Amino acid sequence: RWELDWLEKRASLTPKAAAIIDAETGQDWSYREVNDRAKAIAAWLETEGVKKGDRIALLAPNGICYFDLLFACGKIGAIFVPLNWRLSVDELAFIIKDCEPSILAIHSSFTKEVTMIWGEEDRCIQIDGTRFSGLIEKFAGQREKREIDLEEEDPLAMIYTGGTTGKPKGAVLSHRAIIWNSISTIASWNLTNEDRTVTYLPLFHTGGLNALSVPILMAGGTVVLANDFTPESAIKNVIEHKCTIVLFVPTMHHMLVKSDCFHKAVFKDIKLFLSGGAPCPLEIYEAYKQKGIAFKEGYGLTEAGPNNFYIDPLDADVKRGSVGKPMLFHNIRILDVAGNETGEDEVGELAIQGNHTFSYYWKNKNATNDTLKDGWLYTGDLAKRDRDGYYYIVGRKKEMIITGGENVYPLEIEHWLCAHPSIREAAVVGIPDEKWGEVVTAFIVLEEGADLGEQDAKMHCRQKLGGYKVPKVIHTIGQMPKTHVGKIDKKQLKEDALSASG
Ligand code: ATP
Repeated sequence: RWELDWLEKRASLTPKAAAIIDAETGQDWSYREVNDRAKAIAAWLETEGVKKGDRIALLAPNGICYFDLLFACGKIGAIFVPLNWRLSVDELAFIIKDCEPSILAIHSSFTKEVTMIWGEEDRCIQIDGTRFSGLIEKFAGQREKREIDLEEEDPLAMIYTGGTTGKPKGAVLSHRAIIWNSISTIASWNLTNEDRTVTYLPLFHTGGLNALSVPILMAGGTVVLANDFTPESAIKNVIEHKCTIVLFVPTMHHMLVKSDCFHKAVFKDIKLFLSGGAPCPLEIYEAYKQKGIAFKEGYGLTEAGPNNFYIDPLDADVKRGSVGKPMLFHNIRILDVAGNETGEDEVGELAIQGNHTFSYYWKNKNATNDTLKDGWLYTGDLAKRDRDGYYYIVGRKKEMIITGGENVYPLEIEHWLCAHPSIREAAVVGIPDEKWGEVVTAFIVLEEGADLGEQDAKMHCRQKLGGYKVPKVIHTIGQMPKTHVGKIDKKQLKEDALSASG
C-alpha cells in the first residue's frame, strides 16, 4: 500500500509555499491552506452522507473550488466530476442524468441554468456563497487523517470528453492515473517547485486540470487561475506572476502572437510556451522563435494523462510539427489495420500503455471495449514516427478521407493552407460523393482585410500537394464553428457543406 493523499504530504513538506493564486482577486493559498480547505470540505461531505464512489459535480469558472473539491473527493474516495459550463442546458442535463451526482456545486452565475435541470435545492451548494465559506470555517480542523479503504484503482475524477466525435463520454480516472500522469510529467518535462503557470484553459477539461495544474502542485510550484483569455491579460499574468511554463490551445497562441502587445512584451521568466489539444499551425513556431522564446507542441487526450510526449524545445524547432518522443513510463505504438507495428514514416493508429491511462467510460461498456484492448489504449488518432524516433500526429482516424481510393489526411492540407499569409484558419473534411467516395472540401477563414479567391487558394495547394489532395471545393467563411472546448467543429462543417451542395 502507498500514500494516495499526496497533498497531505506536500502540505507537510512545504506548508507555506504559495500553491494557488486567483489572478482576478490576487488572493493566494499556501499548500497548508489548500489542504486544510480540502479536509474541511471532506468532513462536511461525510456529514452529508457522501460515501466512497459517490459523485460530486461542479459547474464553475476557473477557481480554487476545483481544487477544493478534487482534493476533498480524494480524501474520502468520492468522484469529482467537473462540468463544462459552455454546454447548453440540454447537454448539461444529459451529463447530470448520466453521472447522478450526490452534490452539485455551482457558481452563482449558473443558478438559472441549474434550476432548469436540478430540482433538489438541498443537494446544491453555491461555491461563491457564504454557506460554502461558512462550511469551510465550521468544519476546519474537524477531519484528521485516518485510514479509509482506498486503493490506487479507485476512481478520483470523471471528465466528460470533448464530444468532438460524438456524445460526451465520462472518462473515469483513478488515483493511479492522475498521480502517474503527474509523476511522469514532472520527471519528463523537468518540472520543479520553482515552476509557475497560469491556467486559462478550463479546469473542467483535462488540459486545464491535468496537463500542468495538478503536476505543478505535486511538484510544489504555483498555479495562477485565470478566466476570460485575452492577449493583454495573458501577457500581464505571465509577466506579473513570473510564470515559467504556460499551456495554451492553438487558438489562444494565434491570438497572442498576432497581438501588438506580444511584440512589445518582455518575458523574463518564461522557460516554455506549450500548445496542445488540437493541431498547431506551423507559423506559431516561427512567431515564438522570432521572439527568442522556447515553444513546443504536446499531444494528449482525456483518457491518457493527458500528457504523453516530450520534446526538447531546441529539437522542437528543428522537428517542427512533432510532438516528440514518449515520456518516461509510457509505451507508445503505431499500428496498421492488421494490428502490426508500422515502419518509419508509415501512418497508423496511435496506441498507448502506461499507468496514466483511464479505467473505463462511465456506464458505457461498448465504448470501453472499443478503446481498451489487450492492455493498450487505442486513441483513434493517426500518427507516424520518423527515422530519429520523433512522433507526428497526422489526424483523427475518423477524419481520414478516402478519395478515389487514396488516403488523405486533412491535417497535412490544413497546415499547408495555413502557411498562406492570407489564411488564418483552415479545416478540411470529406464529403460523400458517388464518383470519388469522398471529395476533399476545405473551409478557410482569412486574415483581417485579406482577399483570396478560391482559384488562388487552390493554386497555393497545387504548389505543394499531390493532385488528389487538392481540395475540390474551398469555402471562405467568416468564422470557424467551434466545439465547447474550442476545437474546430468538423461535424458542423460537414453538415454545412452537405446542405450547401443541396
Ligand atoms: P471526443 O473524444 O469526445 O471526440 P475530443 O477528442 O476532443 O472529444 P479530448 O480528450 O478533449 O476529446 O481531446 C483529445 C483529442 O485532441 C486527441 O484524441 C486528438 O485528436 C486531439 N489532439 C490533442 N492534441 C493534439 C495535437 N497536438 N495535434 C493534433 N490533435 C491533437
